[in-house]
Amino acid sequence: MNDMDTRARARIDLGALRANVAALRARTPGAAFMAVVKADGYGHGMVRCARAALAAGAGWIGVATPEEALALRAAGIGARVLCWLWTPGGPWRECVEADIDVTVSARWALDEVTRAASETGRTARVQLKLDAGLGRNGAQPAEWPGLTAAARAAEDAGLIRVTGLWSHFSCADEPGHPSIARELAVFRTALAQAEEAGLTPEVRHMANSPATLTLPEARFDMVRPGIAMYGISPVPQLGGPADFGLRPVMRLTARLASVKRVPGGHGVSYGRHYVTPGETTLALVPLGYADGVPRHASSAGPVLVAGKWRVVAGRVAMDQFVVDLGGDAAEAGDEAVLFGPGDDGEPTAEDWARACGTIAYEIVTRIGPRVPREYV
Ligand code: PLP
Repeated sequence: MNDMDTRARARIDLGALRANVAALRARTPGAAFMAVVKADGYGHGMVRCARAALAAGAGWIGVATPEEALALRAAGIGARVLCWLWTPGGPWRECVEADIDVTVSARWALDEVTRAASETGRTARVQLKLDAGLGRNGAQPAEWPGLTAAARAAEDAGLIRVTGLWSHFSCADEPGHPSIARELAVFRTALAQAEEAGLTPEVRHMANSPATLTLPEARFDMVRPGIAMYGISPVPQLGGPADFGLRPVMRLTARLASVKRVPGGHGVSYGRHYVTPGETTLALVPLGYADGVPRHASSAGPVLVAGKWRVVAGRVAMDQFVVDLGGDAAEAGDEAVLFGPGDDGEPTAEDWARACGTIAYEIVTRIGPRVPREYV
């Protein structure tokens, strides 16, 4: 045991991440690859994962916020970086100076980026986003011709270069959903209109992980997967990670903080939602909702302790939860495995997602900063 793992740790297998990128690239020949590392690399560590993905052949990095993009540059990452959340008054000058590709969905944002370009004396790299049906940001199809014409004019003025045109599916994780074909058709129409307007983007892209794996017709020039790169199936109804040649990257463990015998009828954790059915052994796992273990895992989350799956006994608290070992033996300091690849019989992030009524994206992304990451 070292300082790193006295309480808990998330082991991040960067070899698995590199292999996942290679597997995804092999499935998408001819398409460029954007590794999505927003939200601290879905909890796995943004900079480390970006570097590993680039080493495995990714050509682009995708993040949500301009601050994330600038943090990648500050860490010395010089690859192409696209950020997609535009908020008024953001650090757009800094992004232009750092050669970050920024996403514009509306005229007012285009005005803001052209201003940043004039002020810095540089040409801003801009990607235009279409709302093909997701209803978040992105220009509405009716606004698209106006936006592309204005972008073309800004290109002529030397203020911007339109490097990409893109959109995002609403239901790619539900193969066969009628919105998929509809949104693809809306995007294709928008691409044709942009071409008529004289735009010549480097990349046109729409495919997140589920589309990367299940929709070859959505690949265009580049795929943009996040969760699959971290070894989690984006379409668990179709198969687990291994079915797609992927391997989970994160393994979350903790050391038991105490093990004790208690009599039957003993309440466990706030609210006494679990009461021991008879004399038993309780083990304390020093991770709680402050670390990202969902409170919804109360009486539901699976944990491997002393060779068997246990279920969280009673409520998850801020820093800890309890499991009932029954008649089995364990000692303080023994390992509890919350989730991992599943090779050693431990639950997976997908098992946690099912137990908590959420998606595995949320399980890994919420693991908080108090849990040290150990990179292997
Ligand atoms: N592209 C955009 C715009 C996103 O917001 C996301 C994540 O939500 C992704 C790509 C990656 O999605 P996924 O993790 O499903 O691959």
